[in-house]
Amino acid sequence: MNTENNTFANNTTTCCYCGVGCGIVLSKDNQERITVEGDKNHPVNKGMLCSKGMNLHYTANDKSDRLLYPAMRYNKNMPLQQVSWGKALERTAMVFKALIAKHGPDSVAFYASGQCLTEEYYVVNKLIKGFIGSNNIDTNSRLCMSSAVVGYKMSLGEDTVPISYDDIEIADCIFVAGANPAWCHPILWRRVEAAKEKNPDLKIIVSDPRRTQTCSLADVHLQLNPGTDITLHHAIGRCLIEDGHIDLDFIAKSTNGFEKYQSTVFETSLKDAADICGIEESDIRLAASFIGNANGFITMWTMGLNQSVVGTNKNLSLINLNLITGHIGKPGSGPFSLTGQPNAMGGREVGGLSNLLPAHRNLNNESHRNEVEKFWQIPLGTIQPKPGLTATEMFDELNTGKLKAIWILCTNPLISLPDVRKAEEGLKKAKFVVVQDISNTVETLKYADVVLPAAAWAEKEGTMTNAGRYISYLSKVIQAPGEALPDAEIICRFAHKMGFEGFDFKNAAAIYDEHAALTEGTNIDISGLNYEILKEKRAVQWPYPKQEKAFGTARLFEDHQFFTVDKKANIISFDGQNQSEPLTPAHPLILTTGRIRDQWHTRSKTGKVNKLNQHISESFLEIHPADAEKRNIKDNDVVEMNSLRGNVRLKAKFSTDIKPGVVFMPMHWGKILKSDLNRVNNLTSNLVDPQSKEPDFKFTAVEVKLYQKP
Ligand code: SF4
Repeated sequence: MNTENNTFANNTTTCCYCGVGCGIVLSKDNQERITVEGDKNHPVNKGMLCSKGMNLHYTANDKSDRLLYPAMRYNKNMPLQQVSWGKALERTAMVFKALIAKHGPDSVAFYASGQCLTEEYYVVNKLIKGFIGSNNIDTNSRLCMSSAVVGYKMSLGEDTVPISYDDIEIADCIFVAGANPAWCHPILWRRVEAAKEKNPDLKIIVSDPRRTQTCSLADVHLQLNPGTDITLHHAIGRCLIEDGHIDLDFIAKSTNGFEKYQSTVFETSLKDAADICGIEESDIRLAASFIGNANGFITMWTMGLNQSVVGTNKNLSLINLNLITGHIGKPGSGPFSLTGQPNAMGGREVGGLSNLLPAHRNLNNESHRNEVEKFWQIPLGTIQPKPGLTATEMFDELNTGKLKAIWILCTNPLISLPDVRKAEEGLKKAKFVVVQDISNTVETLKYADVVLPAAAWAEKEGTMTNAGRYISYLSKVIQAPGEALPDAEIICRFAHKMGFEGFDFKNAAAIYDEHAALTEGTNIDISGLNYEILKEKRAVQWPYPKQEKAFGTARLFEDHQFFTVDKKANIISFDGQNQSEPLTPAHPLILTTGRIRDQWHTRSKTGKVNKLNQHISESFLEIHPADAEKRNIKDNDVVEMNSLRGNVRLKAKFSTDIKPGVVFMPMHWGKILKSDLNRVNNLTSNLVDPQSKEPDFKFTAVEVKLYQKP
């Protein structure tokens, strides 16, 4: 594969941080140092950038901790030694072949990232599912988006965000549930702020146990108890029915399941629902009246719903509000899940999860498997019907010894996985660990047998799909340092070493073309799309089929025909009880985790930028003064927090913005070489939603006490 850029018409690219997917124009000097500015012609951000995007050049220009050469150790006790690409990949192929021959294809796994480009996802997925013969590929997107994926599939028949960012500007009511987009999706939120400024009648509802920056724009903040979202959504649904604010015609013609829904939401009185949620009944009624009187109604959510042991049901109960009011498939209306990572959606498009096939085909559907097998020119029956291991299951199976080798691409699981000390035990027990990354993720690299240096943002070309189905192109502008290679090329070279054909791609564009061709005829058909179109248009929304005069598809379901078998959307009802670990006298507080404004994931990029560190420079525990007082804790005291799995030590920060009984700690920190006591996932449990397998990051039973020096 040729790593040189395909012809590069201009220096336009896409921000590599959050799922908003802002366009960026890059300039470089003769020292290969870049500067960034917002792309005024990009339909997503129209020239705006947030603090993280504006400072991307610092990260790109700083090569201080970059991995420059392949390295490996010959046994677990030896230090890593620099080797050639040939040697590193030959050894990796040799070990993989031996393990597969002895223990079968499911003894190896790839753990990737929502920051991988679509082309990279495509080749890894093709390699393991089509050639190695295992479905053991999963990504850190499992930790943030999988509940939304399952929710969409169950209700709309397809994993799809039906609306466009432009719908924000024409909505009259936006319900932000379990999200803080003012900090975590800043440019999207600026569009909401601008819409509110232009139309003061736009009503904003926010549900969150914390009063976040997003709440400053809210007309009503429903500060609910963690885990009670379904009860809240049902109570709002009940009010909408009682007040006649539902669309009976749409319900009758275009949905299934309303009768059961109606009886479910009437099982709990509004007063009981308000008590369960810990909010005022009048606030529930107010929120329902905003929705009921809106011509355009958007539900917007992210991890507060997804990262839950009932995450799928939380998604369904929120989408139900769009369905019973008929606010879907029309201007300014629809459900809109925000993706955390820049390419979580692109990864799903190519089938980069353990239960998916390319173009959202289903692994358990034989004709879908056969379609892909024929396309990849592999024997029928190669692709296995049984789902592979999910993110947390991979590390569980390293612990049991069933999984022998793991290849980690572009993610730092030893900070980001739940119950992370157990995950670390798994990596210690692994027979073989490959780490492919751009920089020294100290925590994970410590366990690598082979280290493969990857090219970073602006050093390789490709595409990503953002939260709104916009596919955007990323340019290669500068050379990667040392011997670092684009991730897709690393995987293709490895495939050759394994003796597989089908990985002779001339360049990234050729991978994209193959991926696009494989989508033809599916719901997410992009067979009319290629790099030239993307470079010209900056970003287009799928589907983009070649048969039609395609300009991308801004809004889905305008004909009220859904992707389900009977073309109707499903209103799905269930019990609203949370199934998280119970609070006990020993662990009476609820820990919820999340992001802060200027850091990204495990800080391997943003942690290097002084300007970003100035916002909040260290981890902290947000605690209500009433909870602190009971424990003789003062503001800024060093405290210890423990759960059934582990402990952390950090400073307490008083805040009346959090509900009593709830504490918050950011997800970003953790350096295990000195101490792991600032790593929040020492505490979290590996309970997952049984449908989506997404972890329960938003509900951990903990206790906090003043730290006493020994
Ligand atoms: Fe990047 Fe997200 Fe900020 Fe846009 S909003 S500049 S995509 S981090």
